Amino acid sequence: MAKVTFREERCKGCKLCVDVCPKKIVTIKEDTLNQSGFHPAGVYEMDKCIGCAFCATMCPDCVITVER
Ligand code: SF4
Ligand code: SF4
Repeated sequence: MAKVTFREERCKGCKLCVDVCPKKIVTIKEDTLNQSGFHPAGVYEMDKCIGCAFCATMCPDCVITVER
């Protein structure tokens, strides 16, 4: 199982990572606000992650790190 971490403070909630994930396990955390006032993205079913790193590649702000 891969491990995906988000530097939430850098996230602007653009949802590019949400749209690109082939497993549809990335979501915007609507109940959380970061210091910039954005709802950050996160993975909610990590056990389904295949470690493809599409999310990290897509993110324009280098928020996401994928470890296989
Ligand atoms: S590494 Fe791939 S499967 Fe895992 S959360 Fe990112 S886009 Fe989705
Ligand atoms: S692509 Fe990056 S900045 Fe956009 S929602 Fe995902 S983690 Fe946040």
